[in-house]
Amino acid sequence: ATMNKIAIIGSGLIGKSWAMLFACSGYDVMLYDVISDQLQSALVDIEAQLSALYKEGLQRSSLTLAEVKGHICTTTILEECVTGAIYIQECVPENRDLKRDVWRQIDDVITPDDVVFATSTSAIVPSLLSDHLKKRHRFMVAHPANPPLLNPMVELVPTPWTEPAAVDRARALMEVIGQVPIVLNKEIDGFVQARIQAAIIHVAWQLVSEDYVDVESLETAMSEGLGGWYAFMGPFDVEHINADGFVDSSKKYGAMVEQVQKTFPKPELMQGPAAEKLTRDLEQWTPSNRLADRCRWRDRRMSALLQLKRKL
Ligand code: NAD
Repeated sequence: ATMNKIAIIGSGLIGKSWAMLFACSGYDVMLYDVISDQLQSALVDIEAQLSALYKEGLQRSSLTLAEVKGHICTTTILEECVTGAIYIQECVPENRDLKRDVWRQIDDVITPDDVVFATSTSAIVPSLLSDHLKKRHRFMVAHPANPPLLNPMVELVPTPWTEPAAVDRARALMEVIGQVPIVLNKEIDGFVQARIQAAIIHVAWQLVSEDYVDVESLETAMSEGLGGWYAFMGPFDVEHINADGFVDSSKKYGAMVEQVQKTFPKPELMQGPAAEKLTRDLEQWTPSNRLADRCRWRDRRMSALLQLKRKL
């Protein structure tokens, strides 16, 4: 065992991303999956993703590509994966029973007291994944934002029984690998990012489905308007400097904000004819057979922005 070993459970989209992030910082990653073919294709894909980053000079590592690859190995034996690891990041499919079962298996392997147990879950509050564990006091969510190599934020969400020391260790590790952790004080559905996203899409859906604005204009309001601020600061800071501090801003604009909020509709499923029309409109600039191209387009812009922000 080294003091440098990271265990990644599940080698899909998110498992591969975590593997690259840790390996790029020189950690020894052991990637586990139940399907050995999946592990083989994960390694091929990791190599392809890293090659693309290195070719464009976008790697976040002082190591060579060969060195990074040398820090990643695979196993189909769970015990081999977690033994000696200082940190365990679970990335199996988003299914409560499956995750509970995988964590029960991990919990049964004796691991030293300071090993962090982290789940990548997007939407399950961590208490529902860990109440049955002997070592539940070191359990938390470490939720990356997609795509994790270009989106540094990681949400750390403790349960009511998580020890602060475990959160501190996870936070420090995220900082070492160049991610930007935010720590919640307690769990809530959607954590922070998905709650904000849910609020945005709730309002956007009303504006488009009730035909106040077309999709293109709605998207432009974000990309050419709000997005300019939000790439650098959050909503409260925006208000704070928009007036003579937040209290003043709230005095001046609070009633207007509340008036608008009172006209928000009830939540509803985004389905039916309005959703179909939305798809047809979106397809005018991203046809469904070009979604992968559009992802690359987004990724190029996200990495350029990240590089700019590091220079500023
Ligand atoms: P995925 O389907 O791409 O990968 C899941 C992997 O887990 C597969 O390789 C599968 O073979 C493996 N697996 C299945 N059962 C297993 C088991 N018992 N033990 C070990 N491995 C097993 O899924 P993903 O998109 O990587 O998502 C993984 C987790 O990350 C989910 O909880 C998801 O909600 C979360 N997440 C996803 C995103 C995203 O954008 N996709 C973003 C943040 C978090």
